[in-house]
Amino acid sequence: MSDDQNYQLETLAVRAGTARSQFHEHSEAMFLTSSFVFDSAEQAAKRFIGEEPGNIYSRFTNPTVTMFEERLAALEGAEQCIATASGMAAILATCMGVLKAGDHVVASRSLFGASVNLLGGILKKFGVETTFVSATEVAEWAAAVRPETKLFFLETPSNPLTEISDIAAIAAVAKQHGALLAVDNCFCTPILQRPLEFGADIVIHSATKYIDGQGRVLGGAVLGNKKTLEGVYQFLRTAGTTMSAFNAWVFLKGLETLKLRMDAHSANALQLARWLETQPNVTRVFYPGLPSHPQQGLAKRQQKTGGGIVAFEVKGGKEAAWRVIDHTQMLSITANLGDTKTTITHPATTTHARNTPEQRAAAGISDSLLRIAVGLEAVEDIQRDLARGLG
Ligand SMILES: *Cc1c(COP(=O)(O)O)cnc(C)c1O
Repeated sequence: MSDDQNYQLETLAVRAGTARSQFHEHSEAMFLTSSFVFDSAEQAAKRFIGEEPGNIYSRFTNPTVTMFEERLAALEGAEQCIATASGMAAILATCMGVLKAGDHVVASRSLFGASVNLLGGILKKFGVETTFVSATEVAEWAAAVRPETKLFFLETPSNPLTEISDIAAIAAVAKQHGALLAVDNCFCTPILQRPLEFGADIVIHSATKYIDGQGRVLGGAVLGNKKTLEGVYQFLRTAGTTMSAFNAWVFLKGLETLKLRMDAHSANALQLARWLETQPNVTRVFYPGLPSHPQQGLAKRQQKTGGGIVAFEVKGGKEAAWRVIDHTQMLSITANLGDTKTTITHPATTTHARNTPEQRAAAGISDSLLRIAVGLEAVEDIQRDLARGLG
């Protein structure tokens, strides 16, 4: 494939990054090798001091991982992609790469739970402070900035309430204050949203979710320009939070069907969200593709569809919400998402159980809230499964 920038996303997802070995294999090869051999002592020396490009050791680079990185970089429109062992490893590597003791972070309050614990807990021990602000109120981001602010961090749409952060507006505030903006693009993937186009500096993925798409392996990625990511790469190659060749191979195959899957997840989710709005025992539906979503206009400008995550509230609090879950016969009762199989979660007693009731109330996570990560089953079958407990 030439470097033609005009290839569309579907094509890049199938073709970008492919590098064939001497055997001319058609499907990308999995290079299960921890190290690589050199032709001579001189070549070894040149590789180690960076005078000659090439693989040395799979903690640094591996050909299968490189193919995955190049393919995802092409999809996000990024100069560089660094694959990591998990989504959290990507977030850790980003923080370790761009921050130092004494720096300050402004982050959305509606982040993935482990991201909140990393920023608000672990990094605090190393002298990095984080101020958590509203995902949607841009003025709060500006007000939280300090002279030592180096990083803005957000996730859009948020989990589980699908709030939309205005990437371009928040990027402008970050830029004005000399801070970098990192966007966790896990829920949309580059098929639906490309944050770099809206002014973000760094894109982060949990590839575990939609990029795999079938719930098999863990992985992550950090994307941006080479200069911004230099420290991230140095951290990774030293600390070893690297993606395995096997997982990279699974993700390469996942990327090939990503466009088809994201379109299908989105179509199913929209149909399910519309149906939920007609159910008498459903009091509210949260989905960016619905006219009832308070930020539908922003969502339309920023992402191609509403995505695959739908949340809704039922009449009757926790008891009624649990009743819906316990009457399902097909849906998977699990907190995972981005799978071909539809999953159902009660956030208040699972993903957000460690928050205090006051924190949950502030975040809008009520006891009657359920989250569905809509899979690829027939939507009528998903509806029938939910209808059993909705009464
Ligand atoms: C799952 C998830 C992560 C963490 O990814 P892992 O691969 O589980 O480490 C980060 N951000 C978001 C939005 C997620 O959904």
